[in-house]
Amino acid sequence: MIRAVKGTRDLLPPSTAAWNHVESVARRVFHAYNYQEIRTPILEETQLFARGVGEQTDIVTKEMYTFEDRDGTSLTMRPENTASVIRAYIEHRLDQRPGVQKFYYMGPMFRRERPQKGRYRQFYQIGAEAIGSESPAIDAEVIEMVVDFFEQAGLKGFTLLVNSVGDSNCRPAFLERLRGELKSVAGQLCEDCQRRAVTNPLRVLDCKVPEDQAIIDKLPSILDHLCEPCRLHFASMRQFLDDRGIVYEVRPRLVRGLDYYMRTTFEVLHGSLGAQNSVLGGGRYDGLAESLGSKVPAPGIGFSIGEDRLVMSVEEQEPAATLDLFIAPLGAAAQREAGKLARDVRREGYSTEVAPEGKLKRAMELANKLGARFALILGDEEIASGRYALKNMQSGVQEPVSREQLAQQLAIAK
Ligand SMILES: [Zn+2]
Ligand SMILES: [Zn+2]
Repeated sequence: MIRAVKGTRDLLPPSTAAWNHVESVARRVFHAYNYQEIRTPILEETQLFARGVGEQTDIVTKEMYTFEDRDGTSLTMRPENTASVIRAYIEHRLDQRPGVQKFYYMGPMFRRERPQKGRYRQFYQIGAEAIGSESPAIDAEVIEMVVDFFEQAGLKGFTLLVNSVGDSNCRPAFLERLRGELKSVAGQLCEDCQRRAVTNPLRVLDCKVPEDQAIIDKLPSILDHLCEPCRLHFASMRQFLDDRGIVYEVRPRLVRGLDYYMRTTFEVLHGSLGAQNSVLGGGRYDGLAESLGSKVPAPGIGFSIGEDRLVMSVEEQEPAATLDLFIAPLGAAAQREAGKLARDVRREGYSTEVAPEGKLKRAMELANKLGARFALILGDEEIASGRYALKNMQSGVQEPVSREQLAQQLAIAK
């Protein structure tokens, strides 16, 4: 038997209804903030991610699906989508379009991570990018949109964290300070931290190993080392959030794993205390476009949501898709009539199934198993009289109805 590739999975009904729900809410909410969809290819040249995500990151060094194409080009299946969006922005000169360019995307990403419960090598992200402005008002708007989206998608009890990680003006001095402090304590930290203390000390702050926390908490805070413009940017962004009544926590240890993030970073946690998971990570990346070869500055901010995890969290609240009408035709003439009736009802927007030929009893059993709201029995007599036998599957009541009454019944409690 051929099975799905390790780390990938099939998304099956009824679970796909929750995926559709989350995605349609995303489209609706993002549209309200004037974001439009962008679809970039899954395959990109490997150097895009090496430069855009960072040579030293775990993603690039260990987790990418990279292969040589037949002509020798090194290609990679996208491990994330921000670099691709920026590539498209530069390639198509989108900086010449009016206003801030606001894009959202949704789709599969690929990382060869160690198999773990709830982690997939093909996973899904919903994300957005706003490119072309440094203003803290854009940061606040993006964060507001995220909160709006989670609320409307039905995510309960999430926590929004915000921070500033400074910029190329103030961060180097902070990193120097951090490196200095780490020299004396790195030996007591986990293996990953010992490596990061040298390669990417900011990421030590992000470590989740419980034994490391007390030591890391005593390390210097980036918020005490921001330069004046960064400090003002952060204060202004927070003011905008406060104005809109958005609840958040400032978390000075919140840094992002990717090298190009600067100033505003944010994250959304979800789950009961002690078992909180990150469902969203985002931040500002003002230097990214230049590092990918843009001649013009393209300051941007964006986020990505782990859709697999989000769907798991809202799935219990989302009712499965329902079958509105099940038609059971009795005989050849009724089979033809059922086809026409099903066509009309489907055009009115009701999910409709027509029973295969066979006994009425079997058909009604099937209607029950499929969870149909109504079953309609169609025989020669019903065709002649123009009145159908309609059974409400929940109450069990069966009554003759006209075509008009059928429409009324279907519209009730829909
Ligand atoms: Zn650690
Ligand atoms: Zn700064």
